[in-house]
Amino acid sequence: MRLNPIGLLLTAIAILLPIIWLPALNHGRDTLALFSQYMGIAALIAMAISQLIATRFKVTEMIFGSLDQGYVLHKWLGIMAMVFILLHDTIDAEMRHLGGQNWLEELAETLGELSLYGLLILVVITIATFIPYHLWRWTHRLMGFFFMAGAAHYLFILKPFKNGDPLGLYVSAFCALGILAFSYRLLPSRLRPSRRYAVQSSEKTGNALAITLKPTASKLRYRPGQFVFASFDGAEPHPFTISKAPTDDGTIRLSVAKLGDFTTRLHRNLNPNASVQIEGPFGHFERRSKGKGHQELWIAAGVGITPFLAWAQALTATDDPIHLVYCVKSEDAAAHIDELTALAAAKSNLTLHIHASESNGRATADKLLQITGQDPANLTVAFCGPKAMRKTLIEDFRKNGVSARRFKYEEFEIRTGVGLQHLANLLFERVAIPDKIKARLDR
Ligand SMILES: Cc1cc2nc3c(=O)[nH]c(=O)nc-3n(C[C@H](O)[C@H](O)[C@H](O)COP(=O)(O)OP(=O)(O)OC[C@H]3O[C@@H](n4cnc5c(N)ncnc54)[C@H](O)[C@@H]3O)c2cc1C
Repeated sequence: MRLNPIGLLLTAIAILLPIIWLPALNHGRDTLALFSQYMGIAALIAMAISQLIATRFKVTEMIFGSLDQGYVLHKWLGIMAMVFILLHDTIDAEMRHLGGQNWLEELAETLGELSLYGLLILVVITIATFIPYHLWRWTHRLMGFFFMAGAAHYLFILKPFKNGDPLGLYVSAFCALGILAFSYRLLPSRLRPSRRYAVQSSEKTGNALAITLKPTASKLRYRPGQFVFASFDGAEPHPFTISKAPTDDGTIRLSVAKLGDFTTRLHRNLNPNASVQIEGPFGHFERRSKGKGHQELWIAAGVGITPFLAWAQALTATDDPIHLVYCVKSEDAAAHIDELTALAAAKSNLTLHIHASESNGRATADKLLQITGQDPANLTVAFCGPKAMRKTLIEDFRKNGVSARRFKYEEFEIRTGVGLQHLANLLFERVAIPDKIKARLDR
């Protein structure tokens, strides 16, 4: 799903607005220093908004759009802030006519440097996606402390305006917002709004473990396709899509694939009496009918089937005909295959296709259009699965006449890189590595 343009516009306005106060502070001197000061201000505003998104408040989804995309903005705001800080540090921000510094201002300068180097290290760790998630998450928490150091630097440093001036108040408000948002994320998850559930049952289905949870107090209200953050017995919360449509008894189901440490542990020894804290629901990956004659193609890859299970259950007899292509390695790896087959048999407007890569090769737009017999001119595609597959399919469908606007997807990963892997691949493809070295690398 796309970011909300209103959120992007508000973010741009928030970062650019301080420019209106700058001409009055210039006095014809120190233009570069003033630009450097603005870079420092822009960094603080970008980081404060980034912290706000990380609170996962409902209002942030209203402003910025679906949370999975909100986290993409969160990452890019952090990277932008880093560029602003580097410019702020490289270009001398000292204004000659302001005079010498007292001890507080010198301390503020030291805090600024601490903030710069701390944030620089943390941003590099963030974009280096090969660092394990749990280690990254631990270091990522320090980000807020370096933001606070940056805010203290701003408040006490010698600058051409006072903290009580309109510009001073404006930037201070963002500093306060960022600090409050960060402090909120530091609260133990039981103190943040969540619902209590307990494990009712669990069963292995293909490569996934389907866990049904029952509410112990109030039940969650959600729409098919939404996801939650689930914390099992107080463990770190992880995002999972609810793999069934809402029911009256309030039970929800999470279908979990073994993708790393935590999910492997869950497969091995899920506590049958576990208490589960559910935060959410989040996300805007919802099915929207476009009206008569419109065609829909749903493409699920692996455990990306979860939102489509909920969508398929919620389909009514009056909905447009849907083709669901379930891409798996082999049929026995496909989770919930019996349930999907039964749904397709019961709902005349749902056709299920299994695309097993072991026997049918890689899924391409041509192949999918051929097996479903759909017309690209009148087609909307919904995709859930790995990022690399999504990128290839978007390009593939674009060549077949389905624009990126008609290809909607859910970001199934919250920590996404900045294309370093892609860059490395491009570089290594271009640089001819001598055979001798290649042989050594292969060993
Ligand atoms: C919106 C959304 C919906 C998802 N729905 C499902 C689903 O229905 N079924 C399913 O099996 N998987 C789903 N996932 C993926 C699932 O969250 C990860 O596979 C799981 O968190 C991996 O945790 P791990 O510790 O086992 O793996 P690790 O090896 O520690 O992590 C693998 C990757 O998972 C992500 N991740 C790990 N821990 C967290 C965390 N605490 N918070 C956020 N991301 C994390 C990171 O991108 C990380 O690089 C979804 C992810 C998102 C963002």
